[in-house]
Amino acid sequence: MGCQRNEKLRQEIVFIRETRPCATLEQIAHDVARTRQRVHKILKGEGKPTCHVKPVKPKHTCLACGTLFQHDGYFCSPLCRQSYYRIPIVCDNCGVLCYILLSYLLYHVTRGQESFCCSTPCRREYWKKHYASRMRSCRKGAGGPEVAPAIPGSH
Ligand SMILES: [Zn+2]
Ligand SMILES: [Zn+2]
Repeated sequence: MGCQRNEKLRQEIVFIRETRPCATLEQIAHDVARTRQRVHKILKGEGKPTCHVKPVKPKHTCLACGTLFQHDGYFCSPLCRQSYYRIPIVCDNCGVLCYILLSYLLYHVTRGQESFCCSTPCRREYWKKHYASRMRSCRKGAGGPEVAPAIPGSH
């Protein structure tokens, strides 16, 4: 008979654990009017988790995709961060729509650059064309360091 009562208790504890994963051992113990140790032992014997699941509270919303996530920051993944910071531009050389990093854009805009290209070959071509005409017109000058324009990102 005592055995049957144990069985009922066991089922009850397992039932609580399965339906309320966030309940602590203390809460379960209180509900079945047994000790915490008893509940722990029964759960362990049943192969059920003895630790309660902590309620998950999402902390942030990803700026790129809107997913809620736990860790610190503004993006749920490095991929989202990357895609968020890609800005659509039109290539000044070939006119193709492409994407560049916001950080790249800001870096060059703050240094006075107004033109952006889709690729390194395009950029080289653009700067060659751009500076070839400029160099010809101011060649008569003192011939300062201006003669060799820096190609961004070419180093
Ligand atoms: Zn995301
Ligand atoms: Zn281009």
